[in-house]
Amino acid sequence: MTSALTFDPIRLPPECQALREEVRDFIAREIDAGTFDPLTSMREDAANYEFTRRVGAKGWIGMTWPKKYGGHERSQLERFVVTEEFRVANAPTRLHFVADRQSGPTILKYGSEEMKQDILPRICRGEVCFAIGMSEPGSGSDLFAAKTKATKTDRGWLINGTKIWTSNAHHSDYLIGLFRTSPPTKENRRHGLTNFLVDLKVPGITINPIYQITGQHDFNEVVFQDALMPDDYVLGEIDGAWKQATSELAYERSGPERFLETFYVLIELIRAVGPEPDLRAAEGLGRLIAQLHTLRRMSVSVAGMLQAGKEPVVEGSIVKDLGTIWEQRLPARVRELSAFVEPEATNRPSFEEQLAYATTVAPKLTIQGGTTEVLRGIIARGLGLR
Ligand SMILES: Cc1cc2nc3c(=O)[nH]c(=O)nc-3n(C[C@H](O)[C@H](O)[C@H](O)COP(=O)(O)OP(=O)(O)OC[C@H]3O[C@@H](n4cnc5c(N)ncnc54)[C@H](O)[C@@H]3O)c2cc1C
Repeated sequence: MTSALTFDPIRLPPECQALREEVRDFIAREIDAGTFDPLTSMREDAANYEFTRRVGAKGWIGMTWPKKYGGHERSQLERFVVTEEFRVANAPTRLHFVADRQSGPTILKYGSEEMKQDILPRICRGEVCFAIGMSEPGSGSDLFAAKTKATKTDRGWLINGTKIWTSNAHHSDYLIGLFRTSPPTKENRRHGLTNFLVDLKVPGITINPIYQITGQHDFNEVVFQDALMPDDYVLGEIDGAWKQATSELAYERSGPERFLETFYVLIELIRAVGPEPDLRAAEGLGRLIAQLHTLRRMSVSVAGMLQAGKEPVVEGSIVKDLGTIWEQRLPARVRELSAFVEPEATNRPSFEEQLAYATTVAPKLTIQGGTTEVLRGIIARGLGLR
């Protein structure tokens, strides 16, 4: 039997437009002040502590969280607008983005009251950075094969093992990690894993860089050797982390960051073809813009469903699958279409550099946050086809 798939036809409400203008104005002032250059910032290790604090001061981190934890009780749709504008401008959000998108919501849902009061306001002020500790050398897509162990002792939990591909761990204060607390059972191989908050500053944690094909240091290997975490750093049910994962996936997978990572090359192409593109460029551009518009409508729809308290896991996975394939193919498509443009119109060095960079970034887009194949498995299961 198949299940229904729903994309509610949601439009951004009028208050979102005022917010969009405010965000654009903020970004323009930051660019004028030399905080970042949208043409080059994606090629830099854009960890900007001051910028993140200014974003926090504007109330744009933890926007949807309760005021009593430093949040602003705004809607998922408003958060969508802020994310979208920052992404389009290539703003340096790496220090707060993960905490805002998923670590904070996880703590809000599963953290102790003391943890919420301590950490969430600091995230909202842009003072702490988070990483995600799921993948291991022997378990990426298959998270339930995780081996890094958390062992209960009189003093707390001792962590031993290795996480890998840990984005931003070198900038982070904390990580939310998935650790083995018991062996899997015969009946349920997903049993035995627990989510923990990890303080990355305690002894026993080594963070080793891994360099991307672009030469950038984005992610790391994180080695734990008897790193001690307090008892109340457990997030949710001991051995039952598998029950907690699903709703978070819709947050992680459906946002505008899942189709806008190479967007800048499309903007460059539009600049290059000018107001009167030839027929072939116009056809190509029209197709790309129509696809982008559709993806955006779908992503807004998921944001609206999250706002309504739904758990659109399948819909979020579809946005991530279609979105990352679109942004992955974009650099090659832009290169083809730019072949019809006068060379001087493309401001060649910048255009070529951006295209070259986007081309090297493209392969990772369909891997980070869940691979295409794995997403399709989730979609098939969600539709009752598997
Ligand atoms: C840029 C980037 C940033 C990342 N950041 C983080 C991070 O911050 N924290 C973190 O924990 N991880 C992070 N990751 C890791 C990422 O989530 C994993 O790489 C990903 O889940 C795939 O795991 P893997 O590399 O072990 O590949 P594998 O799981 O070994 O997969 C290899 C291939 O097999 C396919 N495959 C695997 N299982 C199935 C299946 N059941 N059905 C069909 N095909 C399957 C996959 O699609 C893939 O093509 C990041 C990865 C990238 C590229």
